[in-house]
Amino acid sequence: MKATARRQSGILFLSALLLSLTAPSLGSQLHDITYESLPDRIRFCISLNKPSQYEIKDALRDSGYFYIDLLNMDNFWREQTFELHDARVKSVRVVSYPQSHIVRLIFYLSSPAQYVVRSTDNPPALTVDIAGQSGSARITPKKVVIIDPGHGGDSKGARSSRKVNGRYIWEKDVNLVIAKVLKEVIDSSPNMTAFLTRTRDKDMTLTERITFAEHHRGDVFISIHCNATRGYEATRAQGIELFYWNEKGSDNAAVKYLEELENEGQLNINGSKQNATLFKNLLKDKLEVEKNKSIEVCNNINTALKDIAYFRKYNRGIKSARFRVLVNYYMPALLIECGFINNPKEVKHLLDHKFHVNLTRSVFNGLSLYFAQKDMNFTLYQYAM
Ligand SMILES: [Zn+2]
Repeated sequence: MKATARRQSGILFLSALLLSLTAPSLGSQLHDITYESLPDRIRFCISLNKPSQYEIKDALRDSGYFYIDLLNMDNFWREQTFELHDARVKSVRVVSYPQSHIVRLIFYLSSPAQYVVRSTDNPPALTVDIAGQSGSARITPKKVVIIDPGHGGDSKGARSSRKVNGRYIWEKDVNLVIAKVLKEVIDSSPNMTAFLTRTRDKDMTLTERITFAEHHRGDVFISIHCNATRGYEATRAQGIELFYWNEKGSDNAAVKYLEELENEGQLNINGSKQNATLFKNLLKDKLEVEKNKSIEVCNNINTALKDIAYFRKYNRGIKSARFRVLVNYYMPALLIECGFINNPKEVKHLLDHKFHVNLTRSVFNGLSLYFAQKDMNFTLYQYAM
């Protein structure tokens, strides 16, 4: 899911990264999509190998878009959205419906505007003119996601109960691998970017992780961990669990154990600056606001996770706990326990790249849903799961 555009003498190519998914036969084929920004309109040119019939569906007034269905098509494209950052058109989405031989081009406009669609035979193409002054293109800053691979260095985290391929698996290593996949997924989207608190196996205090997140002005903080039950004995506990900060901590024995494990004796959150009562209360309020946002992020991610059968089945829900790393006054923060490393069955998933991809794409979908709820200018991108 890339959304870059290639510039060539004032005309921009949108389709350079489209991938053909089927072998051609007798219908029409989409060659490429270009656009040109003119002072009074923006013009899209959809070039084809031969003329195609089309249908238009207008949902501009209610939903801010219209779409064109190209009929009798026989080459198909991976679903993609192209962000334009033009004052008139926000983005263009290309969706294929191979069974009905349709390629759908959806135009999301910044505001309702006049548009004209024309078909030409020589060369075979459709032109789409959307009226409006060019103005200055609005660039929405990318949302910043701080990914924190839990533990590192001497803090190895939890361990697998048995050896896998001759060695024990440590949580710190799995956390780092999953965090890196998540960064890759986020960075390949057009409107989010990710930073890792650590990129290698090294010691890092919980306070250093929080300071890093604040320094990089994160919009969301996600700490990646693997779950474990007390001791290394084989466990049947299984599944994903999401946490947000709760000052009171948990009464649940399993969560209490996790709090011990994840806090590494670094729970004290009273810095010297925070001793004045007034300041303390202000921070408490701020923490409360961020906590509510954290719950919203958790809800969105959990909803997205449920698109995957495995996470639907093994879903331990959203909980609150006293995790030091989640104490953050500037951004919502959550901790994901991706699965139980001391469950001999689940540790295999935790080492499986396909599992990482499914997990991180769901997390991405959830984050994207959250940002779209919070920011009207944020374009929602979703992986089809
Ligand atoms: Zn951990």
